[in-house]
Amino acid sequence: MELKEVIKAPNYNSQSDYSTGKDGNSDFLTFNCHNCGNALRIDFQKQIDYSWKGKTDRISEIEQQNLKQYYSIGLSQKSHDGGLPVFDKIICSKCSATYMTYCGVVEFSNSAYNVIVQGIIKI
Ligand SMILES: [Zn+2]
Repeated sequence: MELKEVIKAPNYNSQSDYSTGKDGNSDFLTFNCHNCGNALRIDFQKQIDYSWKGKTDRISEIEQQNLKQYYSIGLSQKSHDGGLPVFDKIICSKCSATYMTYCGVVEFSNSAYNVIVQGIIKI
């Protein structure tokens, strides 16, 4: 995994980007491709759906290990916000730039979740 650019770095005090039941929630975090400006998005529900697995199907086992190492997610297996770390990959449909995303998913009550986008890197 060759890291080309850090778009967003983890922060222990990050506010939730998504919270189940909250007014004005957006279902996606949108950011612009650093190559071409195309709008890209992180699907919050998808991060929640895959939180038990720690990664979506776009991320290989090896990529997951590399990302855990990069973000210093150790034996506790907790994300920076104390939740479950979930990794996803987003590929720009216009220029094929590849981004790895790192979200923390916290179940704060039964089937209600906070999602915090902790990291976005371009590889
Ligand atoms: Zn692009």
